[in-house]
Amino acid sequence: MIAIRGATTISADTPEDIRGAVKELLIEIKSANGLEIENIVCIMLSNTADITSFYPAKAAREAGFGGCPLFSSLEPTIEGALKLCIRVMILAELDKKPVPVYLRGAANLRRDITKKLVIALDGPAGSGKSTAAKNLARELNILYLDTGAMYRACALECVNRGIDLSDESAVKAVMDDIDLKIEYSGGRQITVLGGKDVSEEIRRPEISGLASKVSAYGCVRRKMVEMQRRIAAMMSCVMDGRDIGTNVLPNTEHKFYVTASVEVRAKRRYDEDRAKGYDVSYENIVKEIRERDKRDSEREIAPLRCAEDAVVVDTSSMTPEEAVGFIKNKIQEKI
Ligand code: C5P
Repeated sequence: MIAIRGATTISADTPEDIRGAVKELLIEIKSANGLEIENIVCIMLSNTADITSFYPAKAAREAGFGGCPLFSSLEPTIEGALKLCIRVMILAELDKKPVPVYLRGAANLRRDITKKLVIALDGPAGSGKSTAAKNLARELNILYLDTGAMYRACALECVNRGIDLSDESAVKAVMDDIDLKIEYSGGRQITVLGGKDVSEEIRRPEISGLASKVSAYGCVRRKMVEMQRRIAAMMSCVMDGRDIGTNVLPNTEHKFYVTASVEVRAKRRYDEDRAKGYDVSYENIVKEIRERDKRDSEREIAPLRCAEDAVVVDTSSMTPEEAVGFIKNKIQEKI
């Protein structure tokens, strides 16, 4: 049996904040430790005395962790202590070293055991950055955030509402009330639009070009970048996209620019699309990739470019394993 520690903070003493923070903390502990609900023996929660609006244990139950004994307690008020803090100890039937999880304001509580790792991977379509990012996140046991999926979801929402994508004010109106959530299940990112899982739908080839169009608008980028920064502020993650190292997380220590020749990238995308049953032609993909590269790198706001302090990874003649190995070595040299 192991004991897993964790803590988080809320920004205000409201049931909504408590529900969100407890759910996020427990899901993060579960995924960081490769824990199944059945392995959990009991969950003990405590909170600072400034939290009175909702029981954290109730939030745990609502989040699907109610199958084991839950215990909740109040901490003494101590001068100078972190405010609005929820702590947890999970006992679990596991035979490995526990991975503690400290999120939000609590990440600063235990700098000794929770060095946050934020890795930015940028590059053009088909460069192999998503595969590298996914594998890297799995190997390092941290979150993977595919930011392209977020722009794809924005494009899909515009399509679903019949919006003309060249009309920026219409796109802005969509952005003002888009219901987009990024969730994680079984280590996989799920893109939820209006309550529906659209993770597959946003991969449709026609959505690629449309995502590139909407992503050039400031109203779209501002909203997405804010969500991306919020996630990176809370936890270790690998984030892939076009402007992560240059714009979203310019201060991160670990930046990579993943690229490959247009031909190699087109061939990869062609093989992927064919395998999914899409009727695509290689020539069209080359054309589409060239157009997308041009639009992404020539747009005014946050264009695709290599950050000055990024390490360039040319994957043209690398296997996916070699690319991840290369990136991991570079990260390890710095930590
Ligand atoms: O990476 P993916 O092909 O899924 O991205 C779709 C489109 O979203 C890109 O062509 C690009 O225009 C846009 N994007 C972006 N900034 C990011 C990620 C994606 O502009 N950080």
